[in-house]
Amino acid sequence: MSRVPVIEVESLHKRYRGHTAVEDVSFCVEEGEIFGIIGPNGAGKTTTVECIEGLRRPDGGSVRVLGLDPTRDGAELRQRVGAQLQESELPENLRVLEALDLYASFYRKPANPARLIEDLGLSKKRNTPFGKLSGGQKQRLSIALALIGSPEVAVLDELTTGLDPRARCETWGLVEKVRASGVTVLLVTHFMDEAERLCDRVAVIDAGKVVATDTPASLTARTSAGQRIRFRPSASLDDRLLTDLPEVSGVSHHRDEILVTGTGDLLGAITSVLTRYDIAAHDLRVERPTMDDAFLALTGRKLDD
Ligand code: ATP
Repeated sequence: MSRVPVIEVESLHKRYRGHTAVEDVSFCVEEGEIFGIIGPNGAGKTTTVECIEGLRRPDGGSVRVLGLDPTRDGAELRQRVGAQLQESELPENLRVLEALDLYASFYRKPANPARLIEDLGLSKKRNTPFGKLSGGQKQRLSIALALIGSPEVAVLDELTTGLDPRARCETWGLVEKVRASGVTVLLVTHFMDEAERLCDRVAVIDAGKVVATDTPASLTARTSAGQRIRFRPSASLDDRLLTDLPEVSGVSHHRDEILVTGTGDLLGAITSVLTRYDIAAHDLRVERPTMDDAFLALTGRKLDD
């Protein structure tokens, strides 16, 4: 299958007065992908996205969206790229359907507002003023507004900040539906679980630079954190029985629990030793490395530091 580039960012630089916010950022988003830009607060994610949306002019490098230059071809791109509003700046009294009708009037080929409202589960709220919507409903409306122009690309920035776990999960389902309808999605987030769940590929940005671009699975597989297995042994166990195993890279004790880290068939190796010594493993848990581990391995820092 040929890969069609939809967003191409090459050596992007952006400074604010003396401060370099984005320093040499490059990545390419292909048609039909959910592509994540992840990184901590202040990493340069929003600045990068604003250059893509044509809201900021880069100081260096190049940006192409659907083959166009966002700085020069902004009017054309606004018709073809849907951007989610930050913290929704809609008037409190504007009703859901009114907001969508208003935004639909800005586009050449708008989606059907009533249909979009139904698709996004807002039918019962069509006549509710914006100020009376819950956080999750406001978020749905902001996604609907990003889609009202029937865009080819949707840019969703900090999609689930402030939402409860159920609303987050529902919003993730919506993003998957948006992609299934053929829209390429650029998702900005500092939530690793969100990136892991939704993104085909991510660019990890730290201090204005891309430190890795890959699938979430490959990024986590690349970490030396490996697998972690925790259990409470039914009898005392000499650590050397575990550390002698080629699969094991570390053993530590946390009260009566043992934590073993390693790679390969770690579980098989541990259970065969335990069986040999007739020791049972209580509360055994296998933990895979997460995107948080991947971020730590790539940057030497925890995401929330
Ligand atoms: P967050 O997740 O907090 O939104 P971010 O990764 O989106 O962060 P940016 O908002 O792009 O990061 O900011 C990158 C850096 O540039 C930060 O150090 C920020 O303080 C600085 N910055 C952003 N906008 C401006 C501005 N208009 N003027 C000066 N500095 C700015």
